[in-house]
Amino acid sequence: MSPEGVAAGPMVPAQFTVAAKRRHTADTWTLELEPPPGERSQFVPGQFTMLSAFGAGEVPISISGDPADEGRLVHTVRAVGAATRAICAAREGQVLQVRGPFGRPWPVQEVAGADVLILAGGIGLPPLRPAILALLSDRARYGRLRLLYGSRSPEQLLYPEEIEQWSAHGLEVELTVDSAGPEWLGHVGVVPRLVHRAELDAQATVAMLCGPEVMMRFAVAALLERGIDAGRVYVSMERNMQCGIGHCGHCQLGPTLVCRDGPVYSWSALERWLAIREL
Ligand SMILES: Cc1cc2nc3c(=O)[nH]c(=O)nc-3n(C[C@H](O)[C@H](O)[C@H](O)COP(=O)(O)OP(=O)(O)OC[C@H]3O[C@@H](n4cnc5c(N)ncnc54)[C@H](O)[C@@H]3O)c2cc1C
Repeated sequence: MSPEGVAAGPMVPAQFTVAAKRRHTADTWTLELEPPPGERSQFVPGQFTMLSAFGAGEVPISISGDPADEGRLVHTVRAVGAATRAICAAREGQVLQVRGPFGRPWPVQEVAGADVLILAGGIGLPPLRPAILALLSDRARYGRLRLLYGSRSPEQLLYPEEIEQWSAHGLEVELTVDSAGPEWLGHVGVVPRLVHRAELDAQATVAMLCGPEVMMRFAVAALLERGIDAGRVYVSMERNMQCGIGHCGHCQLGPTLVCRDGPVYSWSALERWLAIREL
């Protein structure tokens, strides 16, 4: 799998084999997929594949593995409907269909020297994981690195052990949940509230966000209020996608196609279109 897609063309899926599988929550799994012989799984942080289990529909799923590792392709998937349920139900040894990788990446190299503030909500953390790993692998090139991550409850937080390792390697982490019992020592409330409280240098900060659209809208509003320029705020957008290569038009957002021009956009490129209701 090359960045341009498999040699046969971007519409022809490659056969990847489920090599390992790990359950995170009641409905969310990480699958490690072994490429076909002779293929590598090269990608850049922020890209996605079109993934499917036979007969169950093809859906866009972000790559959540380490971009420095060209071995297995890693996806973290939440089972919400027919296609994602079939992917999450795949057993070790089963073959899944993969097209891609597709899409524009997080600007990890471009933001060297900046403070990077990462905001994630729920299943929005997996699309940011490759960016976090890339930033930490070259820690000295960046200023402050921070993750503000929220989920519905403490049990729903993804990658808890790994988050501790990231923290030990120079990522400042603040976790928040919508509700929790007395044993929870982190924040309670939504991610945008953490933005209001965060100590930050607006001129030096670049933000990268992924999560439910409503969370991103409120979090971006908070970032702009704090004085961060819209051109330094990056979001990963989700829209219904079918082809993944800018042909079918299903993922149109204003004058752009999310599969081709996104999924990562600067807020300054999008804000005009997102201001239009239901677009
Ligand atoms: C670029 C991109 C990257 C993505 N990365 C991931 C990822 O890393 N992990 C992951 O689990 N999912 C990811 N998704 C979302 C995933 O594609 C959808 O969950 C999937 O398409 C749902 O298909 P389905 O047939 O299983 O469910 P459907 O039957 O299509 O939908 C089931 C329910 O989920 C809702 N739904 C469907 N798609 C979305 C969506 N995109 N956003 C919000 N609600 C939706 C539907 O309205 C419905 O209520 C990504 C989407 C995009 C566009």
